Amino acid sequence: MTNASPAPRRGIARRPLLGLALLGVCLPRARAADDMSAVLDPSARAETLYDEGEWCEGPVWMPALGGLVFSDVRRNRMMLIREDGRAEAFREPSNNANGNTVDAQGRLITCEHRTSQVVRRETDGAITVLADRYDGGQLNSPNDAVVARDGAIWFTDPTFGITQAEEGKPRLSEQKGRFVFRLAPDGTLAVATSNFVQPNGLAFSPDEGILYVSESGAAGGEKAPSEIRAFDVADGRLSNERVFARVAKGVSDGIKVDTDGRVYAGTGDGVRIWSADGRPVGHIPTEGPCANIAFGGPDGRRLFLCAGRQVLAVETRVRGAAVRT
Ligand code: MG
Repeated sequence: MTNASPAPRRGIARRPLLGLALLGVCLPRARAADDMSAVLDPSARAETLYDEGEWCEGPVWMPALGGLVFSDVRRNRMMLIREDGRAEAFREPSNNANGNTVDAQGRLITCEHRTSQVVRRETDGAITVLADRYDGGQLNSPNDAVVARDGAIWFTDPTFGITQAEEGKPRLSEQKGRFVFRLAPDGTLAVATSNFVQPNGLAFSPDEGILYVSESGAAGGEKAPSEIRAFDVADGRLSNERVFARVAKGVSDGIKVDTDGRVYAGTGDGVRIWSADGRPVGHIPTEGPCANIAFGGPDGRRLFLCAGRQVLAVETRVRGAAVRT
């Protein structure tokens, strides 16, 4: 690791001080306001933890590494914000890493655009390639991943990292589509669904009976609805595909779920939140698009937001599902 931090910032595991508030929180009117007040204290404000990124993505709370890891995709590095607020380069170059998650053993799982790989960082720092090819061809550019309780790693493989030079390394796709994959614990890689123009963020419901997946084809100028789709999950397979929610501004990118089943997504104007039955609950605005989010902190109640150059955090009244603290 190398220190690449500006002046130390405030700790990321504590409540923000009043006076550092930067962004307000929009509460829908009437009945929904009750639900949003269950998510956030009405006085809660998002705090800026880091503002020197180029395009921040893939936050994941990593107790074993001492804080929040995230990817600065276009700067080709990953950063670590320690619990005392210090930010430092964690991995550089990062192969234009994007989404990150953590497995049951506390190991970091990372999607790399430039190498078209999903990799695991072992406890000694060594990198193990978990997936890089399917059906005779290199993967596109794995974007985001989630680990199921059975140890399978589900990830999306859109083409953003091979079509946009600032996101990776332009080349032709060697795949027949942009798939959502399931990597079984025995290493078998299978297509879970091929029904997306550009699949992006993904997350399970608390009981892992539902998988949510973002459709972000419109981000690349393709004809695609900006929506989150839901699938039933059983025995490692998806069924009953349906539209869970539509996104009004931009596209849905990273998704997370709290222990009550609410769904949170980074979108073109901040974090949008829905109840488990798809009803809009509220909105945490950001100055520009919010790409990815993650719950974390010592009690799993802090919500971290990656929004363009910034990483923000807000204290919530909920707890993230599947957060390792
Ligand atoms: Mg993404």
